Amino acid sequence: MERFRAAGGTHLFLATQNYEGSVPTTLEQYRRQFETTVDLAHQSHAATGVVVYPVLAPYPIDLVGTSGAIGVAAAIDLQRAALDLAGGYVRERRAVALGEVGRPHFPVSPDLQAAGTEVFGHALVVAREVGCPVVVHSADLDADGYAALGAEARKAGLTADRVVKHYSRHRVDPSGATGVVPSYLARRELVRDVASDPAPWFLETDFLDDPARPGAVLDLTTVPRRARALSEGDATAGERLWNPFVRSVERVYGWRPEVEGGTAP
Ligand SMILES: [Zn+2]
Repeated sequence: MERFRAAGGTHLFLATQNYEGSVPTTLEQYRRQFETTVDLAHQSHAATGVVVYPVLAPYPIDLVGTSGAIGVAAAIDLQRAALDLAGGYVRERRAVALGEVGRPHFPVSPDLQAAGTEVFGHALVVAREVGCPVVVHSADLDADGYAALGAEARKAGLTADRVVKHYSRHRVDPSGATGVVPSYLARRELVRDVASDPAPWFLETDFLDDPARPGAVLDLTTVPRRARALSEGDATAGERLWNPFVRSVERVYGWRPEVEGGTAP
């Protein structure tokens, strides 16, 4: 986090993850996991001043492992309960979105596929009820995939502009807007492609501090470094920065990122 700050980073979204090395099989384990994420956010802020927004949900892929351990029906119940729990954190303003939610990005058995769809449907309903966005983990999507995702959200009563497709690897044509909001992997070429697109869209690294997989993801400092690159050059630079970092947050989350002591560096 010190490196993020040193690179010019001021705010980030932190998605929860499994910290214990085994798939949760009880709600208590999810509660512990969510508490860890919220603690990390507070500790990071206290130590560095970086504002960290927790994003909480049972990871959709957990469903596969949990089903193996306790059966599909119990695994569905657990995921639903953990989504309700995460929704409670949003209500209490201890988290800002449900995520990652979605479906396995690899082929699974038909019953697990059905289970994933049921659980994702519940995530959309909880998000609608507590009034927050969902951050979606899914396979890579083409235009039809974005449209289908938007339709699925609307069916659950959630507007598509509250659905963030995380780890988007290709530019989504804003004119073909399905309403679903891409969060682009901050590769240099992709950032260049989307830099002038109207809001909402985000940049992300999907950073995971895993010593066993060095270099598996973009470094945590990538987004502030890309922002610096975007801020250089012509008179439209300010507008280019405003879209992903302020306007998109306002449009999707409904509030403006808070800045301590006036303007961000
Ligand atoms: Zn993911």
